[in-house]
Amino acid sequence: MNDVINSDKPLKLTDNIWWVGHFIEGDSFQCHSYLIENGTESILFDPGSRLTFSRTFSKVEQIIPFSHIKYFVVHHQDPDITGALDIIDELNSREDALIISHWRAMALLKHLNLKMPMVCVESMDWTLKAGERELEFVFTPYLHFPGAFCTYDKTTGSLFSSDLMGGFTDGFSLFAKDETYLESIKMFHEHYMPSREILAFAVDKIQKLPLKFIFPQHGSIIREDLIPFILEQLKNMDCGLYLLTQTSTDIKKLSMLNRFMNDFMQTLVFHRYFDTTARELLNHISRIIPAESLKFIIHKEDDSWSLLQEQNRFEGVDHKPDETILKAFAGSSTSSEIVFDKDRVILPLKESDTQKVFAFALIRLSRAMEMDSELNSILQNIADPLCIALERELMQQQIDAEKQSFYELSIKDTLTGLYNRTYMNETLPRIFSHHDRGLLKGIALLMMDLDHFKSVNDTFGHNVGDVVLKKAAHTIVSHLREGDIAVRVGGEEFAVFLILDDSKSAEATAERIRAAVEAIDFSEHMGDKKQTISGGLALRQMNESVEDIFSRADACLYKAKKEGRNRITRCE
Ligand code: GH3
Ligand code: MG
Ligand code: MG
Repeated sequence: MNDVINSDKPLKLTDNIWWVGHFIEGDSFQCHSYLIENGTESILFDPGSRLTFSRTFSKVEQIIPFSHIKYFVVHHQDPDITGALDIIDELNSREDALIISHWRAMALLKHLNLKMPMVCVESMDWTLKAGERELEFVFTPYLHFPGAFCTYDKTTGSLFSSDLMGGFTDGFSLFAKDETYLESIKMFHEHYMPSREILAFAVDKIQKLPLKFIFPQHGSIIREDLIPFILEQLKNMDCGLYLLTQTSTDIKKLSMLNRFMNDFMQTLVFHRYFDTTARELLNHISRIIPAESLKFIIHKEDDSWSLLQEQNRFEGVDHKPDETILKAFAGSSTSSEIVFDKDRVILPLKESDTQKVFAFALIRLSRAMEMDSELNSILQNIADPLCIALERELMQQQIDAEKQSFYELSIKDTLTGLYNRTYMNETLPRIFSHHDRGLLKGIALLMMDLDHFKSVNDTFGHNVGDVVLKKAAHTIVSHLREGDIAVRVGGEEFAVFLILDDSKSAEATAERIRAAVEAIDFSEHMGDKKQTISGGLALRQMNESVEDIFSRADACLYKAKKEGRNRITRCE
């Protein structure tokens, strides 16, 4: 194919449509001209400049006499298209030849002071009938030209797209080879388009046309099979790259940085948990600097510091920052510059409402590196999103802590700190089903009730009664193992669920509790009066219901009371 582009011959693209451009060696910004061969109403698109026109002219002449061209469609006013217009003006001998463009281009093209008349697409109702050929002009505003348009040829399904769909190309190919061509277009549009919305507006219009070819003014021709993929991708692409830095004109680099910023923002949108967010952000950062780890150090209201890092799943641990950070923090009211400290970057993060530095992102580098102004501005750009991620995490941590404390309140009895019935009803089905499935060896229910407790209240008052209840409850809990559950089921009644390795251990635990309650020293409140407790112990049978085990344990407790109290009775 390169032989064809390098040769002096025109190239037929489809019925009556020819490439008549001129290939410039080593130029990543090739400019194409196209001809629709249409008898004496032939059409030349984007005729070119003084750099290319002589070759374009000779190619046209190999197909038709140049004078057969009636229409010169000029998609925008830039010199790569219009530089040859005054030569054409001299060459033209036809009375009816026309330059067709948009009024915004014509406002400038009039300064060429041409003899040929110009007509704008608006006044043609955006269509051109040239013999059998019907062309439709499609309004597709572009960054350097708000009046930009494309031309659609209904006969062949071809779109002469001008700057839209054009690309910057390293190794030039007249036809786009595969989906990778998207990268060349991306670089071009990301930089030339001010916003995604403007590009999406144009792409949307083009998508509605039945297309077989896209003939762009720059880059490669796109065939039918690639068109849907490329249009879909461009529709969602971010633009306005030139805003990223003021100095760089390296489009590849800007494009890479843009992707980095996009991925960075996407991570914040899509990841909910801070540990995965931070890991992803580190991955992105390591695409631009040799970053090894990402930590955050936060200054808290009580003037202490907390370090959030992966090792503690970013929950935060108390931490004393080193001198460099303390110095940066002390000076942060006047300057919040990024500190490059040998092999780490210290990035100040500002509270979004007060704009006060409240934390630092610490990026550890695998090797020391030089800071330049471009890197500085990119790192400045990521400070805001990092800050949002961090503020969101801190808020989440606060909400989690509040939720936890509300939950604790809702499942615990305030006087004794034991679990309440609500928690018991929530939990029992789960542990009983574990038992039924053989995941737990055994469960015992120990129902306990303080003996003659009414007389404590009657004799020493309700407050003392409360103290006795509390102390008894603490004594019960202190004899339990992790996993056992003690519930205050009523006034001075407790249900204790013991998770067992063997049945004997249940009896031993019950007996220990009974003895320990009896041994509590209440001399401060009740002289030498003791408080005893009685218990009924039931080992849960397989598939036994909550009601059944309670009624068995209750019956045993009743028996223990009847037989003299201060004892544990075991159900047979
Ligand atoms: P028994 O040995 O048969 O269990 O006799 P008892 O006196 O312990 O049983 P009874 O059910 O007659 O009395 C229980 C008492 O517990 C009555 C009630 O005032 C008291 N009580 C229940 N809840 C509380 C509480 O939260 N604080 C105090 N101080 N007393 C309570
Ligand atoms: Mg009692
Ligand atoms: Mg009672």
